[in-house]
Amino acid sequence: MVDLRIKENFKEKNIEVSFFKNLSEAKLQILKLININDTVGIGHSGTLQAMDITNELILRGNIVFDKELAKDKEECKVIKKKALLTDWYITGSNAISFDGKIVNVDHSGNRVAAINFGPDKVIIVVGQNKITNNLEEAISRVKNIACPKNAKRAGFNPPCVTLNKCVDCKSKERVCNCLSIIEGQVGKDRIKLFIIDDDLGF
Ligand code: SF4
Repeated sequence: MVDLRIKENFKEKNIEVSFFKNLSEAKLQILKLININDTVGIGHSGTLQAMDITNELILRGNIVFDKELAKDKEECKVIKKKALLTDWYITGSNAISFDGKIVNVDHSGNRVAAINFGPDKVIIVVGQNKITNNLEEAISRVKNIACPKNAKRAGFNPPCVTLNKCVDCKSKERVCNCLSIIEGQVGKDRIKLFIIDDDLGF
């Protein structure tokens, strides 16, 4: 059960929190908020894949830039860049802290770039399993839980995949090249944080 006081902690940082019972409820709200004429960038996330939001948006006529639709590496790069300049960006997160911080790591940096300073409207969808008590625990979660699993899923093999913990490697297959900590926002409610009362993604 999510401690609802987290909403106030993020509100102080200009980040709007909404709670949802499940992914379907959150998806309905996303489809309500985004107009059919809006363009949408998608940051790769197991949670969003489970929600199947990309297909839903495309079917109703939105232009969507999701790297998972790319035919090859070149197209993937182009899509990642286009997703930085859309009306909306939707993604998951590796960890959020109860005291109001959003922590993410990226392999190439496209997702953290979009969240930090890309589209004017950003929706971040997280399961309650991504909530930690503080920043230190959030970074630990990202490095020791999210990175090994995400690396394995993406077909990379840095040491954490075998060890199930981070050893701050110098591997060429290192997946955590960009670490982002969002402590607040200049613009009120640019970032909307959707917290689902369920365990989702890594
Ligand atoms: S630094 Fe290396 S071992 Fe640590 S999380 Fe990143 S890829 Fe894994």
